[in-house]
Amino acid sequence: MAECGGLYVISAPSGAGKNALLAEVRLRETRIASTVSATTRAPRPGEQDGVDYHFLGRDTFQRRVAAGDFAEWAEVHDNLYGTLRSELDRCLATGNDVILELDVQGMRSLKRLYPGVGTIFLAPPSMAELERRLRNRGTNDEADIALRLRNAEKEMAARVEFQYIIVNDTIDRAAAEMVELLAARRAARTAADADTR
Ligand code: 5GP
Repeated sequence: MAECGGLYVISAPSGAGKNALLAEVRLRETRIASTVSATTRAPRPGEQDGVDYHFLGRDTFQRRVAAGDFAEWAEVHDNLYGTLRSELDRCLATGNDVILELDVQGMRSLKRLYPGVGTIFLAPPSMAELERRLRNRGTNDEADIALRLRNAEKEMAARVEFQYIIVNDTIDRAAAEMVELLAARRAARTAADADTR
């Protein structure tokens, strides 16, 4: 039987450092496949279509929603974001662990679709630190920062719905914790597979 990887959702308030953390985790653990989401948000400087996101116009996005192309989708910060079924199938077929980066609504949808999904919330050390990181990023205007901070309060309140909470105090420590978590769940799956043989 082909090895089946674990399925994970990671959510984090904007500015918590999810991209940097996942980049570090991917350096340390190569058996990871990540879905590329679709979004109607404009690309940030340096972002590439098909790599960071599939950037779609709102009409195209909505047409693909109607066609049933999305496993889940949600409106976040006034833009549409979603996971294409084709992306999810491509990642699942690799046999690697699959990590989806979703907002809290997306996490809830995935839990309905795949009750065994591992859910991880990445939290900033504090709200003050989150605000500082958002400002330092320099890619969001004041209105957008205010919106992201308001959403962050709501997302922090939802962290109790997740199985694991990792605090992103330093990338090094948080990445080590996440790699350990993936390894522990992989070992548990292997043990469970052996039991059923
Ligand atoms: P950003 O605009 O900063 O790249 O992402 C904003 C938010 O959208 C983040 O919370 C991110 O996790 C979420 N997001 C990105 N892709 C998806 C997706 O495919 N589905 C859902 N539900 N949320 C997503």
